[in-house]
Amino acid sequence: MEDIGCNCAKCAVVEKICRLEKGRGPASCPTKKEGPTLEEALERYDDVEIKEFARAASVQEGACYAMRDAKPFVMIPTKSRIEELIEFSQRMGYKRLGLAFCGGLTYEAAVLSEILDKHGFEVISVSCKVGGIPKERIGIKDEEKIRIGEFEPMCNPIAQAKILNHAGTDFNIMLGLCLGHDSLFLKYIDGLTTVFAVKDRVTGHNPMAALYTHKSYYQRLMKMEFGSPEEMKSRLVSYDKG
Ligand code: SF4
Repeated sequence: MEDIGCNCAKCAVVEKICRLEKGRGPASCPTKKEGPTLEEALERYDDVEIKEFARAASVQEGACYAMRDAKPFVMIPTKSRIEELIEFSQRMGYKRLGLAFCGGLTYEAAVLSEILDKHGFEVISVSCKVGGIPKERIGIKDEEKIRIGEFEPMCNPIAQAKILNHAGTDFNIMLGLCLGHDSLFLKYIDGLTTVFAVKDRVTGHNPMAALYTHKSYYQRLMKMEFGSPEEMKSRLVSYDKG
């Protein structure tokens, strides 16, 4: 089959050109085809601040493994995301951290904030419900709410971003923002931002669980189209009939 476009996710080459000094890549390989773009990207690392950030991030990456000098190398990761976040923020000399969290994860935000406090950071935290503005303001109909017939404040990621921008945070952390609300936060936040956790209402905010179980409990991801329960049921019957 002809290679069209860039598709690293499906690259079957074992000795990859992007991972080995003398590796190979398929015809669509961006390491082989995208020279000008790679060059353009590389120039951005010459910016002093970007270069230091990129350097510190890669130093932190290495620092998350043990026994790095033992041969043959066996991967021994040692640090959780929270430890990585604390170490990286210390490495960068950050003092004031912004925390944009989902109102549904207020408890988790309080725990994260307390831990960061204990490590000497000043945490400016903002809930997604900030402003308490009714969802009707962005055109949500009553039947489109989570609790039909009730007052529901809209998620307000643009306000979260602007409040953290005004606070002059050194670095920002997203905790559990909804899909799409996270996109708006990233569009409007000025400073560099990391994701501590993404929203996944079913898997304890671990969306990877659905990928890891796509051949067992989440096989519907590969075998069914989405729709109403009735539509899904009728499709299931037709799948069963083969
Ligand atoms: S950069 Fe090239 S070799 Fe590396 S994963 Fe992508 S297609 Fe494969």
